[in-house]
This record gives sequence, structure tokens and C-alpha cells, in this order.
Amino acid sequence: MIDRPTIERILDAAQIVDVIQEFVPLKKRGVNYLGLCPFHNEKTPSFTVSPSKEIFKCFGCGKVGNSVNFIMEHEHLTYPEALKYLAGKYHIEVIEKELTQEELEKQNERESLLVLSAYASRQFSENLFQTDEGISVGLSYFRERGFHQNTLKKFEVGYSFEKRDSFTQRALDDGYRKDFLIKTGLSIQHEDHIFDRFSSRVMFPIHSLSGQVLGFGGRILKTDVKTAKYVNSPESEIYHKSRILYGIYQARKAITQEDRVYLVEGYTDVMSLHEVNIENVVASSGTSLTQEQVRLVKRFTPNITILYDGDAAGIKASIRGIDIVLEEGMNVKIVLLPDGEDPDSYSKKVSNEEFTNYLKEKETDFIRFKTQLLLEEAANDPVKKANLIRDIVRSIAVIPETINRTVYIKECSTQLEIQEAVLYHEVNKMRQQRTFQDRNRYPVAEDLPVPPPVITKTVRHEPSTYVSEKEIIRLLLKFGSAEFERKIRSEDGKEEITTVSDYIVREIVSDDLMFDDDVFRMIFEEFKFATEQGIFIEDKQFIKHEDPVISKLSAELLSDSHALSPIWIEKQTFVETEDMKLKDIVPDSVLFFKGGKIKRRIDEIMIQMKEAQKSGDTESVLSLIKKDQNLKVALRMISEKLGNRIIL
Ligand SMILES: [Zn+2]
Repeated sequence: MIDRPTIERILDAAQIVDVIQEFVPLKKRGVNYLGLCPFHNEKTPSFTVSPSKEIFKCFGCGKVGNSVNFIMEHEHLTYPEALKYLAGKYHIEVIEKELTQEELEKQNERESLLVLSAYASRQFSENLFQTDEGISVGLSYFRERGFHQNTLKKFEVGYSFEKRDSFTQRALDDGYRKDFLIKTGLSIQHEDHIFDRFSSRVMFPIHSLSGQVLGFGGRILKTDVKTAKYVNSPESEIYHKSRILYGIYQARKAITQEDRVYLVEGYTDVMSLHEVNIENVVASSGTSLTQEQVRLVKRFTPNITILYDGDAAGIKASIRGIDIVLEEGMNVKIVLLPDGEDPDSYSKKVSNEEFTNYLKEKETDFIRFKTQLLLEEAANDPVKKANLIRDIVRSIAVIPETINRTVYIKECSTQLEIQEAVLYHEVNKMRQQRTFQDRNRYPVAEDLPVPPPVITKTVRHEPSTYVSEKEIIRLLLKFGSAEFERKIRSEDGKEEITTVSDYIVREIVSDDLMFDDDVFRMIFEEFKFATEQGIFIEDKQFIKHEDPVISKLSAELLSDSHALSPIWIEKQTFVETEDMKLKDIVPDSVLFFKGGKIKRRIDEIMIQMKEAQKSGDTESVLSLIKKDQNLKVALRMISEKLGNRIIL
């Protein structure tokens, strides 16, 4: 822990222009500085640095912060790491808060393990490049496979000698402690003997995000020995294989720049892609992806493309593991390599350009890929098809965003020839089960979304706003899950779909408005909750509601016999064409709703004003007049938008 006075000295010393200029060329414009934003792709500069306010702000992507935030964001560092970086830049001595004896020991041990791992990496590298055995066995292996010197150096690959205790002996001679050799897993103790875990292997150091060596993967080169092809460091105080991805250190800058990460299987796959100038690539080193690994790459990009070997028999099994990536809200794409090829072999077979084009052209959306793959298998077998649907539905159900789920449901409905409503139903059922399971997993329900309490009070009709409130509820019940608008996002060209309920909830919540009618309020709260949680509300849900007042009202509003709202009689809208005109009807209804609320507020202010006048409170009267005027301006604007129709 860095102590408070040190933090203050660092913040005082760090001049924001000076800090940022190291990464982004800035030009002076008036009192500010301007440059190209490092956080999004742009051709005209909108990244502004204000030396007087000590902040940066990008008007393109909205990123804003001080110099420490900039370093954290740009270099992907934690707060203390960013502070230490700045301390180094300004030659400030970092004084850390005193640690307890236990904390100190733990920290010292961690440091010692890191120092030892760095030492081992240097030794292995020296073996590879500077010894006869290393050059003739290890280096020739890499050269035969077409790796160039700069890639080998970039990944700090190495070689472990054939002699079973050469590394251990050397490390002990150089003063490294036996217990640390064992704790890092570099050495293994067997009774009185201590020997090397890795021998006769080419060595791939596994780096942390900031480039520290945490562990190793070693590949055997001899084919005649009966041993595992790959051996990895065991779990230790510093190496947790589920939390790290091979190549992340070398890839992190490119991942941010390309806003995409490629996931491959092995160490040499990662290196091969670097050889063809694709640097935004990581490997999960043989294990299936963990949530921690997904979160690690998600710090850099929401877009992941998984490369599959063409002949992998395990595709079907492994695609089930991808749900974990969907669950984190990432966009998953798949590229299937030609039969018999892996990224390493294929990238060497074709030209760099052909390889890059292949990745771009063959990229398929994951859900689409999975559906096609399983559909081929299921063919005309109804039992298999039922399983397939369940499988696809499970994948869709874990996606956190409502909009993405909607898109997939639409698409799968076409591909599988199943009604959308059926898929919605299945997805919702699955999501409800999941919520239930989550609840059981965490007995303390504090961090779980709690549905709004159902208040059953006597219904009190507020004549002034009742009609417009009722119309909003009717639209929610009848068209809540219908598409309201579809936009292409300018940043990435992706399609964004807003449903009617998304739109209505957003409009009403952002203006901090509420329903006066108790039943309407309850129904709205349920929609709001569902929208925020990304849950779909089924059409029939409210008709079957446990509260008889709600179910009765819903049935009334949804029935065709429902009389047309006076709002539409006035506009002479035909009810038959209503769903075709959602884009007009929904925003107009929201405006009527807002107008009604303003009108009522004006009435309330009139009463308050009379009271204030009576008691001679001039200050209150003046402030109420001001409020009254502002509200009237807002009301006039709404009325104009509605073509001067009367607001009830
Ligand atoms: Zn930006």
C-alpha cells in the first residue's frame, strides 16, 4: 500500500500534458491541447487535454479522467501500478504503508518466486541460443518450423537440457533457495533427490499482463521417450493457469488497437500468428476457457474470434464451453480452418495476405455456427432436433443483453423453423431457472436484483393523468417486446434493436416520472425491472397475474373490445394499423404522458402560490413563478411536437 503523502506528491508532480504526450502527440489549441484519441479509432482529433483542469476528455468516445486514470486506461494498469509508474517518471520515492509480518512474508515469497522465474527464463533462453545442445536440438526445431529470431526473442522461448538436474544445480549454485525451486515447480523433490521438472524441452515462458514470468510450458522434442508432449508449471503462489492467457503480454496493445482478440489453442499457434503480423492473439494453453480468462481479455475488447482446427473431432464438445464467453457479454465469432490444418500449419502454407483474408471471410457468428453444425447432425431426427433446440436455447439464454438475445431468437427461429414465441418461452424459462439457481447458490440475497414489492392498495383514479397512463400501460402490455427501432451504431456498424418497452421505460425513467395510478405503477415497475434485468415479459404474463386487479385490467386492455383511447380518436388513427405505426404511436403516447404530468405539476404550483401569497412569502412566490414559467415552456414544446393536439 502506497502511503497518502506519497500519493499526493505523485499527483502534484504529474503534469497531464506531459504524461499524455508520451503516448499521444498533442497540439496546442487555445488553452487546451488536442490529439487523436488513443481509445477509439478516429481520423480527426477529438481528444482534448486541459492543463488547467488537469483532465483529458474525448468528445468522440466520451473517455474522461486525470493523469492517473489515463495511465490506468492506456497501459491497463491498476491504480497502485499507475501511481508507481508516475512515481518512476517523476523520480518520486514510493513509501509504502507498513505491512503486517504475515503480509510481508507473503509478499516477499511472491517476489522471490518471481525473481526465480525470471532467472529461469534467462537460463533457458541462454541454453537455446548460446549452447551447442540448445542450438542443435532446440533452435533447429524452431527454425525448421519457420520461426524467425525476432519472434523467438519476443516470446523469450528457451531450452532445457537433457541432463535431469542441470537447471536445479545451477540455480542452487547461484544461491537460489531450494524451497522456492520447489514452490515454483521448476524442481521436483523425490526423497533425497532434487531434479528438474523440465528436461529436453523447448520452453515457453508464460507472462503476466505486465511481462513478468509466472510459469512455463515445455514441449518435448524427442519422439522415442514415453512422456507427455507438453509439461506445464504446476499451480503456485504466482501461477494460476485459469487466470492467465498465453501471449496476453505480447498481444495487449494490438488487442486494443484492433478491438478484437483471436483465441487459439497452443503456444506455437500464437507465435505463428505473430509471424504473419497478427498480434492480437492469445491461447488458453489446452484448457477450456475460464470466466477469469474471459474477464481478462474483456478488459481490452468485447470481441473474440475463436480459431478451430479443421478436423477437430472435439469441436462439438468444446463449443459447449463457449457459453461462458457469451455469459460475459462478449461477441463471439468462429473461424473454422480447412480440414487437417491448425493456425500454425495453415499460416505457413498460404501467404500472409491469404491467411488474413481467410480469417475475415470465414468468420461466422457463434450462435449461427452452432445452429448450423448441430442442424446438420440432427437432420431429420426429431429427438436429436429437440435436443439441439434445447442446446441452442441454453446458449441464447446466457447472453446478458436483451437486444442480442432478440436478434438471435429471430435468426434461430428462421434457421430451425420454429416460431419465435416458442423460442422466447424456452429462453425465458431457462433464464428463470438460472436466476433460481443463482439464488440458491448465494443464500445472502443482498446483491441480487429484488423485484419491486407488490403494493396492493385500493385503486384511486386520477382523472387528469389516468388516460395517458393507461395508454402507456396498454402499449407495454400489447407491444412491449415488439421492435421499436433498429439502428446501425456508427462506431462498429453493429445493429442495435430497441424494443417498445426499452424505449418507454428509458423515457419515463430518465425524466424521473411516476405513475399516479397504483395498478399502473405496479405493472410499470415490473416492466422496468424486466428491462433492466434483460428479461422478456410474455404477452400473457399479466393476464395470468396473481393480483386479480392486475389480471383483470390486463385482460381488458389486451382484448380487442377495448375502446380506442380518446387520444387516437382525436388523431383519427385506425386501430387496425396500430402495430404498423408503433414508431408514431409510442413516442406520441410518451409525450402525452409527460405533458399530463407537467400540467398537473403546474396545477399544484398554482395552489402552492396562492398559499404563499396568503402568508406573504414573497421569496416563495417568486421561485414558484419561475418554476411555473419553465414548466409552461416545456409544455408548449411538447404540445408543438404533438401537432398542437390537446394534452389531457
Ligand atoms: Zn475517444
